[in-house]
Amino acid sequence: MEQNIVGAPSRIMSGGRPTGRQHLGHLVGVLLPWAQLQEGNETFFEVADLHALTTAYDRTERIPADIREMVIDWLAAGIDPQRSTIYVQSHVPEISEMHLLLSMIVPVAWLQRVPTYKDQIVALGGEIATYGFLGYPLMQLVDIAIMRATTVPVGKDQLSHVEFGREVVRRFNHLYGPTLVEPQATISEFPDVPGTDGRKMSKSYGNTIDLADDEPTTTKRIRSMLTDPQKVRRNDPGRPEICPVFKLHKIVNVPRVPAIEAECRTGALGCVDCKSQCAGAMEHFLRPIRERRSAIDPNVVDTILADGAFRAREVASATLADVKSAMHLS
Ligand code: SF4
Repeated sequence: MEQNIVGAPSRIMSGGRPTGRQHLGHLVGVLLPWAQLQEGNETFFEVADLHALTTAYDRTERIPADIREMVIDWLAAGIDPQRSTIYVQSHVPEISEMHLLLSMIVPVAWLQRVPTYKDQIVALGGEIATYGFLGYPLMQLVDIAIMRATTVPVGKDQLSHVEFGREVVRRFNHLYGPTLVEPQATISEFPDVPGTDGRKMSKSYGNTIDLADDEPTTTKRIRSMLTDPQKVRRNDPGRPEICPVFKLHKIVNVPRVPAIEAECRTGALGCVDCKSQCAGAMEHFLRPIRERRSAIDPNVVDTILADGAFRAREVASATLADVKSAMHLS
């Protein structure tokens, strides 16, 4: 299942729901790896607005603004529209049509047994137990298969979706002849990015360091972070392994990590100084991205997405034509 993405060029497809401004967790877990994947591969990055409807069908007003903010952050992080096709899912109507066609061959039980389905129904409540939500792993497969992507970077929790998608492709090819490409997953090890309250960094917790924030805002947020509660006085020995500030050092201040760990344990380093160092390293880490962000004309987003939709539709319409032909629909 796993495949080394270093080597032969691949066509890579990935995407994300329009969640507005991106934060440090998005940057190190998704955007910087995507930027690297652009080297020597063909890359398609999708703003999955239809996926957003599966859980937020009653809160759609913010979707256009969230798309714009998210794409600006993608560009600032190094996603290059000259090298990657960046598009909005609903701007490629072939995806919806192929989703309908493939829905005819997918047993409901296959969708019900996707592990995240039951988990999310429990976590988010019965109002998302909709027809559309049940089918979202199929929509993910269509996103991938319609672009004839060979490689999909995913976290371990998404592996079951790719495996489900491969089963659907095999079933389609068995029924109608070899038409679709079976995608391979590549495992991305997402670093543990703590939010400013020590929980996982997430917009829903209000604990994020956003790419669009300015330096004083970020510094203030880092200064407010909780540390090891046993390190009360400056010279008390600390436990970096339970400290979220230390986790941030491991992301943005790598060369200094061994020294910070040692100085924390002996009590040579106080938390106030440690946070100041972290804020300085964070500013150094984020500054180039923030500078690129502030230089981006928001109006360029529409042009990039229109161009991306055009390029994505060229590929998608060819795949859809093959699917319909295989199903004797044209
Ligand atoms: S010195 Fe740094 S790593 Fe140690 S507890 Fe304080 S903030 Fe955390």
